[in-house]
Amino acid sequence: MRRILMIVFLLFVLMFPSPEPDAAASGEADVEVTYYVALTFDDGPRRITTERLLDGLRERGASATFFLIGEQIEENADVVQRMKAEGHQVGNHTWSHVKIEGMNQSAAQEEIRHTDQVLKELLGEDTYWLRPPYGLINQRERSWITVPMVQWSVDPEDWKYQNTDRVVSSVLNHVKPGSIILLHDTYPTSVDAALRIVDTLQGQGYEFVTVEELLALNGVAPQAGTMYVSADQSL
Ligand SMILES: [Zn+2]
Repeated sequence: MRRILMIVFLLFVLMFPSPEPDAAASGEADVEVTYYVALTFDDGPRRITTERLLDGLRERGASATFFLIGEQIEENADVVQRMKAEGHQVGNHTWSHVKIEGMNQSAAQEEIRHTDQVLKELLGEDTYWLRPPYGLINQRERSWITVPMVQWSVDPEDWKYQNTDRVVSSVLNHVKPGSIILLHDTYPTSVDAALRIVDTLQGQGYEFVTVEELLALNGVAPQAGTMYVSADQSL
């Protein structure tokens, strides 16, 4: 009798294989899918807001990219070293936040070179990517740029509204996998918004990586003089 039961059981198993693989393919495993996204912060460092942001990102295991104004680096050297030590990407936002578009070549190159030099002295030899202030650069000026450039695909205009709820909902309404989000770590409201955005999106399966990591994860080899807008769009 026991033997017959065993045979019946085996037949049953053969006729009705485990549904698990199909269930996984049809979406029950969605919570395990990782979407990558990059938070970027311009115009820092500003000690009082940037340090609070770094604390919050560390607690959440989130990486970000910081485009720094060169003339603010020296007085915040320890904050900038902390960015690198904690796995964030550090980039160049010119020495004094100039609009490169329309500038003469030697002045524009000096604005970029000076910040690059300070970053190399502080953090070591590396390629420090550029975000032109206001995102503005013409074809004419691009030929002078020797590093990859970063724009953005999600801009809640945090500097204009300085309203945490508005910034959070704007980002959550526009974000998608591969987005590059623009914020400024110089406003307390933007720091609050960034941390709420991280909490919400991590709960939806997003992981926060640097821009460099985002492009690598999407198989993009960054080129000098190219402006990256998101993981799958460049100018
Ligand atoms: Zn800026």
